[in-house]
Amino acid sequence: MADYETPKLLADVPVVVVPNIKPGAMSHSSPYVAKPDHNIPLGFPGELVENWQEAAIAKMGDILQKYRSIQVYLDSCVKCGACTDKCHYFLGTADPKNMPVARQDLLRKVYRRYYTFAGKYFPKLVGATDLTKEVLDDWYSYYHQCSECRRCSVYCPYGIDTAEISMAAREILDSIGYGQKYCNEIIAKVHKIGNNLGLPGPALEATLEDLEDDIKTDTGVDVKLPVDQEGADILLITPSADFFAEPHIDGLIGYAKVFHAAGLSWTLSSYASEAANFSMFIGSYDNMKRQAERIRKAALELGVKRIMVGECGHAWRAAYSFWNTLAGVGHGAADDDKYARMLQKQLDPRFPVPQHICESTYDLIQQGAIKLDKSANDHRRVTFHDSCNVARASRMGDMPGGQFIIPREVIKAACNNFFDMAPETIHEGTFCCGGGGGLLTDDLMEVRVKGALPRMQALKYVVDEHKVDTLAAICAICKTQFAKVLPYYDFPMHMILSVHQLVGDAVILGSND
Ligand code: SF4
Ligand code: SF4
Repeated sequence: MADYETPKLLADVPVVVVPNIKPGAMSHSSPYVAKPDHNIPLGFPGELVENWQEAAIAKMGDILQKYRSIQVYLDSCVKCGACTDKCHYFLGTADPKNMPVARQDLLRKVYRRYYTFAGKYFPKLVGATDLTKEVLDDWYSYYHQCSECRRCSVYCPYGIDTAEISMAAREILDSIGYGQKYCNEIIAKVHKIGNNLGLPGPALEATLEDLEDDIKTDTGVDVKLPVDQEGADILLITPSADFFAEPHIDGLIGYAKVFHAAGLSWTLSSYASEAANFSMFIGSYDNMKRQAERIRKAALELGVKRIMVGECGHAWRAAYSFWNTLAGVGHGAADDDKYARMLQKQLDPRFPVPQHICESTYDLIQQGAIKLDKSANDHRRVTFHDSCNVARASRMGDMPGGQFIIPREVIKAACNNFFDMAPETIHEGTFCCGGGGGLLTDDLMEVRVKGALPRMQALKYVVDEHKVDTLAAICAICKTQFAKVLPYYDFPMHMILSVHQLVGDAVILGSND
């Protein structure tokens, strides 16, 4: 049994009350430290290096040079306090170090000590501190209590993005061999095998064949889940959770049914079988690039015309915001990057590169290329959770706010009973599920449960008001996190599902078989 209490939900309000602070409430929370087997394949030292202090300060200097935004963020905070009550981890734990400004200060006080005139000569006056082992351990603990959700940045008058600061801190920690096991172990699996699960090609093929049989049994229709099909039009890059776990797998079935109903030619890749890019969570550009280049290689080898991304929040951020600079997917890349140029020539310019699966499904619905029977979901009363990385770090479609409109329009096309949560808890103000940013590990269960509090409160309100029984999401991390934490708040774990499960249950398969 857990040795902490799940926070209590309130009646009749969509938003939690700001707690009285409890200093040190979460100082014990730290994820398992990565071992040499996890670190070395990523190019990091196997374990904490002897000269860690000197190396960490030097790495901080590199980052300040490379990313000017970090220095601007560290210099420009005026301590106005607008962000203090905006973090779900503060709201759920009451630990003042989980206030975004305090989280930034953990790095800021060391930055001031070594990289500002005042901090070098008058440290006490400006709150500058030496980088001691105690400070380093505080970094390790509290930078792993940030899901890099960017909610605080929405409310900061200077736009200071604590997520970027957390990524920089984790980059420093990894550079001295003090990284987090969960993320680094997963990234190493992607480099070696192609997906977070370490699922090899033959196992993936067998899983997809089983799913085809299941769909045939359910519907009587031969819906295919092709893999490594050279010459297919669309390469679907989806989170590997879609291949094995509930509720994700029903979303994958939904994608396949949509492609089938629309008569689209598509394939998965066994080489690039992962949309997630956990390297973003640890701030490692080099590892992000290696992961993105796997996708480019698969697209080139398969000769596809389009690249589509399945339901995954941070994967969509990596694809939408970074694939172009990481791998020249879509546009960008140096003139002499021949593989980027080859892919840019190969892809069909009539479609967005990359394209979100919801964008594609939305377009197909608008064009009448697929038909949905909404009554198939009449037994459900549905709400939607905006995932942080889609809501605040990317966009969808060619309309402002498309990332909010498109998934809702897809849901409304697939079911009759849709109810949004309270306005202050959705869209760009959405609350994180509590498990993003590389925190989706059992060794961080307490912070995950407590960090889910604001979302659970908003959910309770819509459940009480509208008898909602289904929570739809478009992020693999959100789905896994909710399946785990919903029961802590007395909701059934099965109320979370994929948006494309709703679509898959409603889509009319027609005669495309
Ligand atoms: S980015 Fe999100 S998790 Fe991190 S401090 Fe800001 S609100 Fe909290
Ligand atoms: S809202 Fe921005 S400026 Fe104000 S305390 Fe927070 S980080 Fe600093």
